[in-house]
Amino acid sequence: DLAIDRPDTVAVAGGPTLPQPGAASHKYTRGMVAIVTGAMEGAARLAAVAALRSGAGYVTLYGGSGQGGPDAIVHRPYDPEALADDRIGAILIGPGLGRDDEARARLAALIAADTHRLVIDGDALHLLDPDALRDRRNPVVLTPHAGEFRALFGTPDGALIDQARSAAARAAAIVVLKGATTIVASPTHARVHPAGNPWLSTAGTGDVLAGTIAAQLAQPHADPLAAADAGVWLHARAARIVGKSFIADDLANALTPARAGA
Ligand code: AMP
Ligand code: MG
Repeated sequence: DLAIDRPDTVAVAGGPTLPQPGAASHKYTRGMVAIVTGAMEGAARLAAVAALRSGAGYVTLYGGSGQGGPDAIVHRPYDPEALADDRIGAILIGPGLGRDDEARARLAALIAADTHRLVIDGDALHLLDPDALRDRRNPVVLTPHAGEFRALFGTPDGALIDQARSAAARAAAIVVLKGATTIVASPTHARVHPAGNPWLSTAGTGDVLAGTIAAQLAQPHADPLAAADAGVWLHARAARIVGKSFIADDLANALTPARAGA
């Protein structure tokens, strides 16, 4: 069903070229990520660690309890004004957000503000109207697994690759359709990423991916499709490094060697 042997589709083999810090780098130039969370903040902490270990220079969690996780994560209350900071390169919403009215309001505010690039994952995908992104100026990356994809887009015609691409066209977004094989699609392009490792089928690994993609998207001048590709690739590489029988925290930690070798 993947039909990867097509001229319009690239099977991703070699790794991406990622930016390396230099003498002039400081924490803001390395990509600043904001994560908007809610009651289930642990998932957002996993995403925050992943963002830091995969290259972001500064990660702030907005709207959680303000506790837990490595001290490198900055915690702040939910604050739409702070989220308008133009040093922020990308905002992730979804991991740990919950699905209540407050969560819905936080997502709607971010989409309407249209001040930043967004990664929308997890709970936020359940609250999203897939047609609500079309008038935005700033790019969006959606990271659904198969169930979230069906809930958002139904079953578009064609092979999975075509489904991902038509979903990307409908939403006017990059769609990362996660599974044993992950498809990264824009309206016109699709890339197929080989499985990282079946041990990824454990809680929290999707949150790690969302943070990894947000860090790539936050890099100055990052191309959104390339950023999604690089995030999926780093995540798979971390899974291969950490090996077997791991939990999502181990995977997030393995992004350090995965990123260092890229
Ligand atoms: P989520 O469904 O949001 O928790 O995300 C799960 C993550 O693990 C995604 O990045 C999937 O691509 C990956 N994943 C889940 N199951 C498998 C599997 N059997 N083989 C390879 N990757 C998987
Ligand atoms: Mg998930």
